[in-house]
Amino acid sequence: MKAIAVKPGIPNTLHLTDFPAPRVDEIANGRGVLVRVLRVGVDGTDKEINAAEYGQAPPGCDFLVIGHEGFGQVEAVGPNVTEVRPGDYVVATVRRPGSSIYDLIGTNDMTTDDTYFERGINLRHGYMSQYYVDDAEFIVKIPQGLREVGVLLEPTTVVEKGIAQAYEIQRRLRVWRPRRAAVMGAGTIGLLATLVLRLKGLQVTTFGKTPKPYLNSELIEAIGATYQSTDELSIIAGAKKHGPFDIIFEATGFSPAVFDSMQALGKNGVLVLSSVTGGDRRIEVPADKINLDFVLGNKVMVGTVNARLWFFFTQYSRLFESRACALRTGDVGSIPHSASALHWVQHGRWRSPAHCRHSA
Ligand code: BGC
Ligand code: ZN
Repeated sequence: MKAIAVKPGIPNTLHLTDFPAPRVDEIANGRGVLVRVLRVGVDGTDKEINAAEYGQAPPGCDFLVIGHEGFGQVEAVGPNVTEVRPGDYVVATVRRPGSSIYDLIGTNDMTTDDTYFERGINLRHGYMSQYYVDDAEFIVKIPQGLREVGVLLEPTTVVEKGIAQAYEIQRRLRVWRPRRAAVMGAGTIGLLATLVLRLKGLQVTTFGKTPKPYLNSELIEAIGATYQSTDELSIIAGAKKHGPFDIIFEATGFSPAVFDSMQALGKNGVLVLSSVTGGDRRIEVPADKINLDFVLGNKVMVGTVNARLWFFFTQYSRLFESRACALRTGDVGSIPHSASALHWVQHGRWRSPAHCRHSA
């Protein structure tokens, strides 16, 4: 079968290759699921892998099949699989368990192992091939109605996990009532973070490099968030105008933005870092000031990576929330058939969730 692969460690090696098709019985205990791939998302991580800044081939292999944001249809299942059957739409999770205590309790996104296994990224082939096989354990069934947007499930889980962690951390404050949020970066993760924070009822300013108007700035403004180009206003100046921010989700893929975000964060705020930066960039920062403001302002910064299986399921609540919202506002017509929030990302048709909050 055909697959798209790179040679990790050598820049710009993306190529089409032939690869033996996997079989259901490769997976132990009759738990194999063979999936025919329909769509695969590409993101900054894939770019870094192709630039040889990140990623490793599976042991004994000199290439890595890329693709970690997969969407496909079940082709065959092993005799002990009851969760899905041929014809079902599915998405597979990315990270596979290691051996730390976190892995043993199903929270492999929190592993403390130095070696971690991620399909399409690190030490395991990904989904950019005609077929893949995996254990039913890591396969999530997607309702038929979400067929058009299922490929966005994996990046959505990354966002959901980051924001859930932030809220969990902020329980330390007992009375935290976030009002203003910022999202750094207007790529896929930035768009999805904007969406999730808007669904939580926050005022959101999303910072991106490109001057508006362009597709992503329009999508952002269509859901009642503000788009701010950093070409016009730096992050720090933007925070004076639109902040102070109670929560910031950093997703630029550009590490200097982290230090600007630390300065854009309001008192008692939480900064979530999600950019994977495989390079070796160095910058000068106002260290005393950043530190002083963090200490005096009781601020928190947290790193977040990947998402455990749980988020692949809970993010449906987000879709249902969006669906209920569309029904309440009578806005069904403007949202295509599955009425999911994720449609907004693809079609730009979505009403501000503020309407729903008031009519709920
Ligand atoms: C993926 C995550 C993964 C991370 C680090 C991201 O692009 O979406 O699942 O954990 O890269 O490898
Ligand atoms: Zn990704």
